[in-house]
Amino acid sequence: MSELVSTIQKVLAETGLVLGWSATGAGGVAAPERFHTAEEAEVAIFDSTCVHNLSVHLPRLKGRAVGIVAKACDARSIVELIAEREVDGDQVRVIEVSCTDTLDVKAIWRRYGYGALIEDDGSELRVNGEPVEREAFVQAKCLDCEDRQPATPAGKPVPSGSKPANARQQLREDFQAMSVGERRAFWREQYARCIRCHACREACPMCYCRDVCIMQTTDPHWTGGGINTAEAEMMQLIRVNHLAGRCTACGECERACPVGIPLMLLMEEQNRAIEEMFDYRAGVDPEAKPPLLTFDIKGDSWDGE
Ligand code: SF4
Ligand code: SF4
Ligand code: SF4
Repeated sequence: MSELVSTIQKVLAETGLVLGWSATGAGGVAAPERFHTAEEAEVAIFDSTCVHNLSVHLPRLKGRAVGIVAKACDARSIVELIAEREVDGDQVRVIEVSCTDTLDVKAIWRRYGYGALIEDDGSELRVNGEPVEREAFVQAKCLDCEDRQPATPAGKPVPSGSKPANARQQLREDFQAMSVGERRAFWREQYARCIRCHACREACPMCYCRDVCIMQTTDPHWTGGGINTAEAEMMQLIRVNHLAGRCTACGECERACPVGIPLMLLMEEQNRAIEEMFDYRAGVDPEAKPPLLTFDIKGDSWDGE
């Protein structure tokens, strides 16, 4: 029995529910699971295809004890959810797993066909039994992750200077070099591909006010549902602004986007501005007061009297 399975089973004895993964997805990749019993937990795994941030489920489980298997990037979301009082820290048992990186499963399947068999030991990636260049399929967010572990799952040290060529860094640099007008044109080109599926919102652990989300209420009808560049731009303006000072850079919005819009570029820019203005990073301190959720009431009327 793996150490992970026995840890999950111990936590289950206290909570009765653990969110984790089994290898039951297409092509042998990880699928999210809810384990309720020690027997169910026997199939639990953690590997480089465990890409999902399972903390997205926690707000809907508020009020009950729950265990959750989490990578370091997922754990930041849990910390921020506790800071925002959407998750009760006393009720959540985090089973933190170490990882060197996770794979861009969608990119692999785009190249080799949906459901292609993926086998990865952390250093060698095989698709349908054939070795492929692993570094080309590491998730962009992992390329400069400060929480990467010093050893691969196989126990081999990561050689210094072996980080994959960072396409994301290049995109950042290209974006920084653009004028304001060029940036606007860049985003308009990106939004032109948006299909308004709302997957970016659904995958985001910090987008938890779904029942009252102004992007979908019809009474009042704040936003249209049109699939065009202007409405997609408005939708992202709302989404990004509502995440100001709350985004933990988990990367799930970008991973979920079916048309490959580089949403993390937006989030990173905003996160950098928030850190400069408020000296605050989301997902670091569960006792912190998120700056844009903090206010004082002065006076007793809206005109400030
Ligand atoms: S961002 Fe870091 S913690 Fe998250 S999956 Fe990638 S390497 Fe692991
Ligand atoms: S906006 Fe994206 S990166 Fe930020 S918390 Fe939400 S899913 Fe994660
Ligand atoms: S996930 Fe992508 S395509 Fe879907 S609404 Fe968000 S930006 Fe648009």
